[in-house]
Amino acid sequence: MVGTKDYYKILGVDRNASDEEIKRAYRRLARKYHPDLNPGNKEAEERFKEINEAYSVLGDPEKRKQYDRGETFNFEGFDFSRPDFSDIFDFGFGDIFSDFFARRPSPARGSDIITKTEITLEEAYTGVTKPVTITRHINCTRCGGRGAESTETCQTCKGSGTLNSSRGFFTFKQTCPSCKGTGEKVSRICAQCRGTGKVSITETINVKIPAGVEDGQRVKVRGMGEAGEFGGPSGDLYIEVSVKPHPLFRREGKDLFVEVPVTIPEVVFGGRIEVPTPDGIALMNLPAGTHSGQKFKLKGKGMPGAHGGHGDLYAVVKIVLPDRLTPEAEALIRKLGAFYSENPRQKLGIKR
Ligand SMILES: [Zn+2]
Ligand SMILES: [Zn+2]
Repeated sequence: MVGTKDYYKILGVDRNASDEEIKRAYRRLARKYHPDLNPGNKEAEERFKEINEAYSVLGDPEKRKQYDRGETFNFEGFDFSRPDFSDIFDFGFGDIFSDFFARRPSPARGSDIITKTEITLEEAYTGVTKPVTITRHINCTRCGGRGAESTETCQTCKGSGTLNSSRGFFTFKQTCPSCKGTGEKVSRICAQCRGTGKVSITETINVKIPAGVEDGQRVKVRGMGEAGEFGGPSGDLYIEVSVKPHPLFRREGKDLFVEVPVTIPEVVFGGRIEVPTPDGIALMNLPAGTHSGQKFKLKGKGMPGAHGGHGDLYAVVKIVLPDRLTPEAEALIRKLGAFYSENPRQKLGIKR
């Protein structure tokens, strides 16, 4: 044997196979192991490269002769994962697939999965990575989604996937009904998936939830849905995020509102007060003569936006009385009442 690789063995053909047989074997294997039809399957990818390398030699009568004489080929740096078929081979790339798709059900994308997670406002503020447990179907790891432990060449069509039938003067090519055009038949069904090609798995994945996410928004994880059919891509996973109500902050889009209790002397004389923010404590100047319910904007202290920037935080002042009204405090407030020059409700057109 020459070189290190047995190209005949790779293509599964005899050493004296005809060019037509080699081409047929190659087409069948290229279809089966094409990366587009086996997404993420490393083993299939390796096989596909090997098959392409083998065919680049055996598919060329001149090179095949050289190979048979024991000459070796240096393919260093040559990428067989995406060969340019039209250059190397005597049939086009589209050729393989046009008859592939004509003969088998089209690859179909898997369904999406929707699940939920709950986060705090602080987590929505910073962004957070949450473990999410999902149950989904993936291609069976034992058989690679084929549903078969082993396959054999279909005897009805001798592996070509098509049958010739004559009607009058015409010869028609039709899909082999026995193997549905695959050229192969299952000789033993897969023990793990019982021939379905799919297995159900439950896994926990870490999902990155971006800062600024709003209640009810969905985060998409590409390809984590149900496995596709006939080599189609997997669906996506959507995580619906609910943000728990916060005991202090009320949210309106990017803006936050917080009620800040203040004392009578503070609103009368003003002063520096502390205000809670999702990011910690901020200091705020309360001007002398502040009214109850007055709103103060703390610029940029709100929630981050999904597209950058921050909203604002509004501190809403609420005047509170002392917890305990001692006789002394009561007397003071009574005295204070005497200093109102008029009933403030007169502005409303009422007297009492
Ligand atoms: Zn067949
Ligand atoms: Zn299986």
